[in-house]
Amino acid sequence: MRRPFIAGNWKMNLTLAECTALAKGLAAQVGKTAACDVAVCAPHVYLAATLAALKGSAVALGAQDVYHQANGAFTGETSVAMLQDIGCRYVVLGHSERRHILGETNQDVCRKVHAALAGGLTPIVCVGETLEQREAEQTTDVVWEQCLASLAGLSASQVAGLVVAYEPVWAIGTGKVATKEQAEQVHADLRTILATRYNPDTAEAVRIQYGGSVKPGNAAELLSQPNIDGALVGGASLKVESFMGILAAIS
Ligand code: PEP
Repeated sequence: MRRPFIAGNWKMNLTLAECTALAKGLAAQVGKTAACDVAVCAPHVYLAATLAALKGSAVALGAQDVYHQANGAFTGETSVAMLQDIGCRYVVLGHSERRHILGETNQDVCRKVHAALAGGLTPIVCVGETLEQREAEQTTDVVWEQCLASLAGLSASQVAGLVVAYEPVWAIGTGKVATKEQAEQVHADLRTILATRYNPDTAEAVRIQYGGSVKPGNAAELLSQPNIDGALVGGASLKVESFMGILAAIS
């Protein structure tokens, strides 16, 4: 039985005061226990303040990226050990904004996934097709390739412990949400390829989140699908009420 997992991706938004207020508000509303795993992925510079504001609650801390090297002359980058040190449990990797705006490749993502797992962080590995790819009926090929290439070289037990996020690029921040049928189909396809590449137990264990304009009004129908194990939430995670509205769809 996979425990649902809802994560907020705050992206490059909020001031320090807003981050702290949002984290405190979530901590107060979620409390010490939740019906699912919950995390917020704050901007790097606000991680420590966010963690302090979440203290005592069931909301875990995540980062939005990490570098694969352990240390050294990599100006501007942040290592897995640094994220661990500051109290992060999760890290989003291969988000479409990093793939499409910053040019991250599957190989880059794969290096980061290896480093994150080796350092004890749980990666949330994002995959998803563009609108052109969907219209050209390439969705399955694209997400399979991204998934397998981003996880290359991992053992089945490593794969079983990580999180995959299916985020159709055309649905991120656009207000266009995949229908529950479209999302469920891709999640089921991802589980099929994981079963083939690794084994059925691994495929059954991996949590696959849906991301792309998830809101309180559409969360329940998406989350009720058998292969959708949670959500990666951008815009609606920036307000306590809307993020709590999505969490309410779980219980
Ligand atoms: C995201 O940032 O991963 C995302 C899904 O954003 P939004 O919910 O705003 O579409």
